[in-house]
Amino acid sequence: MASIQLQGKIFITGEIETTTGLHIGGSAGELDIGGVDNPVIRNPLTREPYIPGSSLRGKMRSLLDRHFNRSLNKPIRRNPPRVRVHECDRLADYNECSVCQVFGVAPARGMEDTMPTRLIVRDALLTAETRDRFDNIDTDMPYTEVKTEVAIDRITSAATPRQNERVPAEATFGPLEMVHSLYTLDTDPTGSVDREIALFDTVLTGMELLEDDYLGGSGSRGSGKIAFRKLKVIFKSRRHYEDPRSVPITTLAHGDGVAALRGVDYQSQISDAIRA
Ligand SMILES: [Zn+2]
Repeated sequence: MASIQLQGKIFITGEIETTTGLHIGGSAGELDIGGVDNPVIRNPLTREPYIPGSSLRGKMRSLLDRHFNRSLNKPIRRNPPRVRVHECDRLADYNECSVCQVFGVAPARGMEDTMPTRLIVRDALLTAETRDRFDNIDTDMPYTEVKTEVAIDRITSAATPRQNERVPAEATFGPLEMVHSLYTLDTDPTGSVDREIALFDTVLTGMELLEDDYLGGSGSRGSGKIAFRKLKVIFKSRRHYEDPRSVPITTLAHGDGVAALRGVDYQSQISDAIRA
């Protein structure tokens, strides 16, 4: 049985701003949607649109799979349209794969133990500032716009309109919170904290790839560009949890956009904080 020692947690907080309209699909069955073909996901209690942590996390992982050219070895759906994802199924591969170490793997035959998932991404709700601003303007539906797209038959030119609900540009969601845990595992032959801290760079790479791609649906047709704003990266060491008064929280980086978080020396700052 593997043993897993928590060394500390890195928190990324901030806001997500929509640069274009954003469509993260909800379920048409559950809501009275007033005839929109593709509604956005809404909080069932407040009816406000939100960004599910699973959407952020899933998109970052899929962009990283492509970035690192990971094999899409695991079928999620075998019937067309086929959906395949990457997940290491041997410990030796896992130990070399930053994507699986950060985002986790399901138990597999070639893995004796369940391996930890390092990254947690929480849901991001509409900010009060955006809610107040949108309350005072006339949107098509509460906090959203309805974008009509038209598919045109290439022979008859017959047009088939289709309605997409979107959160408009310049909406902000927050607080965003991502929590990246640092562990040392006895299944890792090196057992090195430095190697563990280096995995955090994969999270930042995923965020930067996402800023340059899109979130949700209709990305190739102009939706889903987002920017991370008011970012702050802090670290709580294992000893902080034991004695928060004598081992304070360390602020590692802050700024607007993921670029502001890159090129920071996380290795030495976190190593110092763990030893403090
Ligand atoms: Zn992998």
